[in-house]
Amino acid sequence: MKQKVIIIGSGIGGLSTALRLSQRGYEVEILEKNAQAGGRLNQIKMDGFTYDTGPSFFSMSCEFQELARDCGIKLPFDIVELDPLYAVNFSGNPKFFQIYKDPKQLAQEFEKFEPDFEQKMRNYLKKASRVFNDTVDIVIKRNFDSILDYILALMKVNPVHLPLLFRNFWQEVSLNFSSKEVRQILSLVAFFLGRTPFDTMAVYTLLSYTEFQHDGYYNVKGGMYKIVEGFVSELINRGVKINYNVEIVDFLPNNGKLQSVVDKDNRVWNGDIFVVNADAAVFRSKVFKRKKYSEENLAKMAWTMGYLTLYLGLKTKLPNVHHHNYFLGSNYEEYSKNILTSDLQLEKPYYYVNVISRSNPECAPEGCEALFFVCPVPNLLFKQDWSDKDKIVDSIIKDFSKRIGKDIEPDIISKTVFTPIDWQNKFNLFKGSGLGLAHNFRQIGGLRPKNFDEEFSNVFYVGASTVPGAGLPMGIISSKLVTERVERYSKQTI
Ligand SMILES: Cc1cc2nc3c(=O)[nH]c(=O)nc-3n(C[C@H](O)[C@H](O)[C@H](O)COP(=O)(O)OP(=O)(O)OC[C@H]3O[C@@H](n4cnc5c(N)ncnc54)[C@H](O)[C@@H]3O)c2cc1C
Repeated sequence: MKQKVIIIGSGIGGLSTALRLSQRGYEVEILEKNAQAGGRLNQIKMDGFTYDTGPSFFSMSCEFQELARDCGIKLPFDIVELDPLYAVNFSGNPKFFQIYKDPKQLAQEFEKFEPDFEQKMRNYLKKASRVFNDTVDIVIKRNFDSILDYILALMKVNPVHLPLLFRNFWQEVSLNFSSKEVRQILSLVAFFLGRTPFDTMAVYTLLSYTEFQHDGYYNVKGGMYKIVEGFVSELINRGVKINYNVEIVDFLPNNGKLQSVVDKDNRVWNGDIFVVNADAAVFRSKVFKRKKYSEENLAKMAWTMGYLTLYLGLKTKLPNVHHHNYFLGSNYEEYSKNILTSDLQLEKPYYYVNVISRSNPECAPEGCEALFFVCPVPNLLFKQDWSDKDKIVDSIIKDFSKRIGKDIEPDIISKTVFTPIDWQNKFNLFKGSGLGLAHNFRQIGGLRPKNFDEEFSNVFYVGASTVPGAGLPMGIISSKLVTERVERYSKQTI
């Protein structure tokens, strides 16, 4: 008889695990708290506009291709490579730096600021590529059964990279480049890990390799939510049932195993195996009520920053604004050092803008534009009161209008704002932390919450706060790792 797997959560981690397990003959059923699938990779339809809520591009497209191959399908959406990757504007300077993948082309953007840029960039990327290639299979794409297992794996990594554990991202970039413009632009990728270049280890300069050389960045034709629609339709074809508006709040154990989970309406869901895609630390805390993950202990862990996200529909076009843009202020270092814990800097916001309708015209009515803004902010551990959200949003809109030379205020016909409170409540994210647990030395690899449960032998975890970490490609790798665990468990119990 087929073993029944209950997956709690339909984020990228839950959906890709459902695909892999259904391919392997398991009976799979998904329980999702919200009314639609996708988790943070979600969609808002409002006033005739369609917005992606979270991710707006991704790296390591090979992980999506590997998932498709593993499941015997063609990717059910079309991916589009980005080059230039994005544009960057500094306050007080009308120039938009175009961030090209080719070092020669990129050198033309920086010729006035960074002498000998091309050679420096090639050297920097060579080193970053070595870090990536020396760690990806040994540390990132594998399961660890114990701390010892993890330490033994670390010992296999080329010791030449050891100093990178003792420097931060900013220091590493500064060793390679002298201009503030290049240092700031190349260290932006540390924000993709939900922290800043000043508290992200230099080993993560491997991300510079993933963005510029390994594979670059990709969009999805029609918007990022096509990923979810494609995966969901594939799952439905395979007979996987997705139950919406089912929030798991309790459980029934049986002899060292989990027998059932219980939702907020007291319905009981039985399975042979359970895969938790809800945040791996929060679920252990709130549902399993584990002491190690008490609210107090969760607060002592390092969490990624919060996001204030803004979805704007304009009754005008912005032909001069690029698809992906970063708007940086003039106090990068001070801002980065304060942004995680203090709201003092919010008056001078730093933010990212995605003009969704630029390459996806179906996301806005004719003659209109759909915009998505992400502004990094402190999570709810450090800023609980968001009654000033309109003030922050106004300052972003004013700053953006000034930078692009057009006042967009009179053209706004649709406006939705999510603060960390919304992110927390919608997806059960601890204190509205946007990317989940941070990736510091004590919270990566074998030290991150494990993808197998400490008490129940039939419970496993997938997603951003377990291994390997945050971001869409990591979610897909996480599904591969948890699938290995489930298969190993099944073999042992047959
Ligand atoms: C603003 C923002 C921008 C981002 N941009 C990018 C980007 O450009 N590129 C990129 O690669 N990544 C990006 N990310 C990160 C990326 O979105 C996440 O790493 C990824 O989507 C997490 O997927 P997941 O499956 O781990 O978790 P989630 O997406 O959080 O899915 C977990 C699911 O579990 C459900 N759930 C929670 N608790 C319960 C419960 N008790 N019962 C039932 N269901 C439950 C939730 O509703 C949710 O659907 C961004 C994130 C944010 C917030």
